[in-house]
Amino acid sequence: MTLYTLENVRQRYGAREVLCVPSMTIDEGEVLALVGPSGAGKSTLLRLLAFLEAPTMGQVGLHLNGTRPVTFESATIDIRRQIAVSFQRPLLLSRSVRANVAYGLTLRGQKDDARVDAMLERLKLDHLADARPRTLSGGEIQRVSLARAMLLQPRVLLLDEPTANLDPHNITLIETFLQEQRRETGITLVIVTHNIYQARRLADRVALLYEGDLVEVAPKQIFFDTPADARTQAFVSGTLIY
Ligand code: ADP
Repeated sequence: MTLYTLENVRQRYGAREVLCVPSMTIDEGEVLALVGPSGAGKSTLLRLLAFLEAPTMGQVGLHLNGTRPVTFESATIDIRRQIAVSFQRPLLLSRSVRANVAYGLTLRGQKDDARVDAMLERLKLDHLADARPRTLSGGEIQRVSLARAMLLQPRVLLLDEPTANLDPHNITLIETFLQEQRRETGITLVIVTHNIYQARRLADRVALLYEGDLVEVAPKQIFFDTPADARTQAFVSGTLIY
């Protein structure tokens, strides 16, 4: 089933066009990696998928339960709650790790200590439940952000460089968590990553953005082994500098 359809999407900031996606779909339950050099438009695309911004032109439609697609303009708060975002530099409150993880539930007037505990455990944060964010490492902060997002049981999780600058231990922890969540919940994941090895490990399909253009989106094996576009070939072989 299709979760997102993008049609003739363009995003301009001032006079500058930073993204152009003539056509793309994202399937429910898939893991899509967005790769490309810095400034290619990856985060911009993620913000459009999150309904944090409306495109200058065209339509980003989210299909839930086979209904007419909802867009930035028509998405209600309940629909927006189906979409979780984990940013590269997550903002945490200066409260305990536990309070940060539970924060989304608290905002919704809910409380479920057992679920919070289970999520802390899954991300190996249980021993840090009472710690304050300022004492945490980058990897721990990223794990708190992921726990907070997944606790809300979204339909789609949009991740902007979830493991940038992290050590191998944290990368493995986070990747394993994402794979488990996907298996258990069928969640759709869209991951912006600089790391093509991470795209190889996690993704079903990979999309290359280059200078604002969607160059190619293909199943992982085709993307890496027999890409159609010369720029994709250059990117995966490392001759396109990024
Ligand atoms: P990537 O995530 O691939 O590094 P971005 O989507 O962050 O790329 O940025 C694409 C281009 O759009 C960059 O040149 C960036 O400077 C520009 N840009 C991003 N956000 C804004 C904004 N809010 N206002 C103006 N320019 C922006």
